[in-house]
Amino acid sequence: MSDADSAAAAEVGEGARDFIRDIVRADLAAGRSESVVTRFPPEPNGYLHIGHAKSMCLNFGVARESGGRCHLRFDDTNPVKEEHEYIEAIEADVRWMGFDWGAHLYHASDHFETLYAWAEHLIQAGLAYVDDLSAEAIREYRGTLTEPGKDSPYRERPAEESLDLFRRMRAGEFPDGARVLRARIDMASGNMNLRDPVIYRILHARHPRTGDAWCIYPTYDFAHGQSDAIEGVTHSLCTLEFEDHRPLYDWLIANLPVPTVPRQYEFARLNLAYTVLSKRRLIQLVEEGHVSGWDDPRMPTLRGLRRRGFPPAAIRDFCKRIGIAKADNLVEVALLEHCARELLNKTAARRMAVLRPLKVVIENYPEGQTETLKAINNPEDPSAGTRQVPFSRELYIEAGDFMEAPPKKFFRLAPGREVRLRYAYFITCREAVKDAAGEVTELRCTYDPTTRGGDAPDGRKVKGTIHWVSAAHAISAEVRLYDHLFTVPVPGKTGDVLDDLNPDSLTVLEACRLEPSLSQAAMGAPVQFERQGYFCPDPDATPERPVFNRTVALRDTWAKIQKKSQKRGG
Ligand code: ATP
Ligand code: MG
Repeated sequence: MSDADSAAAAEVGEGARDFIRDIVRADLAAGRSESVVTRFPPEPNGYLHIGHAKSMCLNFGVARESGGRCHLRFDDTNPVKEEHEYIEAIEADVRWMGFDWGAHLYHASDHFETLYAWAEHLIQAGLAYVDDLSAEAIREYRGTLTEPGKDSPYRERPAEESLDLFRRMRAGEFPDGARVLRARIDMASGNMNLRDPVIYRILHARHPRTGDAWCIYPTYDFAHGQSDAIEGVTHSLCTLEFEDHRPLYDWLIANLPVPTVPRQYEFARLNLAYTVLSKRRLIQLVEEGHVSGWDDPRMPTLRGLRRRGFPPAAIRDFCKRIGIAKADNLVEVALLEHCARELLNKTAARRMAVLRPLKVVIENYPEGQTETLKAINNPEDPSAGTRQVPFSRELYIEAGDFMEAPPKKFFRLAPGREVRLRYAYFITCREAVKDAAGEVTELRCTYDPTTRGGDAPDGRKVKGTIHWVSAAHAISAEVRLYDHLFTVPVPGKTGDVLDDLNPDSLTVLEACRLEPSLSQAAMGAPVQFERQGYFCPDPDATPERPVFNRTVALRDTWAKIQKKSQKRGG
C-alpha cells in the first residue's frame, strides 16, 4: 500500500459519528472491550462491489480509529459456488482500497475442525440432532410467519444415535441431501431462524482450500459467529438482513464452549441508483454477456470502478459521506461522481483532446510552419508545471464548438465570429466548407498573430474559448463514454431487471484526436481532457493506439441535486 493510501485509509472514519461508532466508544469506555477487533467477511463467490467498499470502510475504519485490528475472513462454507479466482481478486481489491489486514487473514475453513467438534458438543448436550427429513419436508414442517412449525419425527432421536449418524455423515456414508444436522431450539418460535435451523449439510464437493477433506459443511449461521469467537472478534458488523439471525447467533455463542463472546450489530446496506449490487445479478450480467466482464467500466464492482478511473480515495470519501445508518435508502450515483471530480480536480493533469473532430484551416498562417505554445498542466496545482503544445496551420476543434446558425447564447465559433483558441490565438471563422450532403467538413479561418498566448493588445474581447489540437501532430485514439448501466434508479422494480438495461450505456468514439503529450500517458494515470471530463487510459490500448475511458464528465450534477433537496426541506 502506498503511503498516500494508508494515510487516506486512516481518514476513512476521521470525525465520523454513527451508531456503530457510538457503541464501540461506549464499550471501550465501560471496559466491555479491551480493544476492538472487527472483520470484513466476503463470501468468495464473486467480485467485490461498491457495497462491499462500504462494509470495508466501516470495519477497517472502526478498528483503525480505536487502535484495534480488522481481519479479512473468507466465509467459504459453500464449496459449490466458490473459486480461487475470486479469493485472489478479493484480496487484491481490498488492498487496492487501501486496507491492510496484516497477519490476520482467515477463512471459515481454517476453523472446520473446531466447528465440527462444537457440533458434536451440541449433539451431546441434547441441543442438536440429525434429521432424515428431505429438504422439502423440512421446509413444510417449518411452518410460516403466522403458523408455528411442527416437530420433525427425528427431533427426539437419542443423542448417541445422532452422534453416530453425524460421524457417519462426516465419513461419507450418505449421499448429498440424505440427512442434515439441526440445532434443537424452538419449532414454535416467532423467529423462523430459531425453528431448528440446519447447521450442517452433506455436500460431496471439492472445496477450494480443504480439497476432499470434508463432505459435510457448516451453514453460514453455524460458521459465522463461531469464526468471530475463535478469532476474538469483538464487534461483528453486518448488514440488516442478518438482524433476524442475531438471536441464533447469540444462542449458538451462549451454548458453545467459545473462547470469546462477540456481538453482532447491523447497519443498512448500500443501494446505489441505476445499478444492481447483488452478486447473483452481477454474475448474470457477466455470464450472459450484457457487459464485457467483471471489470467492465459500467459495472459497480471495484474492478469496474478501477478500470473506469475512480481512485480508491474517491470511493473511501464517498463511503464516508454516505455514513452508516440503520435505515435503508437509495444513494445517488451523482455523489460518487462528485467525490471523484473533487479529487481528480486536484490531481489530474489537463490535456487537450478533440473527441468529435472538425478540421480548421488557418488561411493566413504560413504553410509548413510549426510553433509550440505553453500550456498549464494543472491550475489547481502550480507544482505540476507547464508543457509545450504544437500549433500549426491545420487544426481540429470539437464539431460541437461550431454552429452555422447559432442560437442566442452560443458563444463559440460561427461564420464571422471570433473566439480564443486556448493557449494560442484569436481566430475568426471566414467560411464553412460543406460536402455534397450539406455537412460541414471544414472551417476556413484567419488568426490574429498579435493575440499569441491569448489576449488582444487592442483590448478587444471574445466571449468563447475553445480547445484544439494540431492536425499534423495529433495522435488518434479511441475514447469510450459511459452512461448508467440501467435506465431506472431501481432496476427490476416493475419486471425483469434485464428489461431495464440501458442500450446506450456505452458510446465508442473511434476518431478522436489527442495532443501529442497524451501518447506518454502512464497506464492508469488520470487526466482531464479540458472542457470534457476526467479520463483514464484503458488496458485495451496498444502503443499505436491509445484508448481512454471517461471516468466522469466535468459537469457536476450533485450540487444541483443537493440544492433541490434543500429546497424541498430534505
Ligand atoms: P450478495 O447479497 O450480493 O451476495 P453478500 O452480502 O452475500 O452479497 P458477502 O460476500 O457475504 O456478500 O459480503 C461481505 C460483507 O459485505 C458482508 O458483511 C456484507 O454484509 C457486506 N455487504 C455486502 N453487500 C453490501 C452492501 N450493498 N452494502 C454494505 N455492505 C455490504
Ligand atoms: Mg453474504
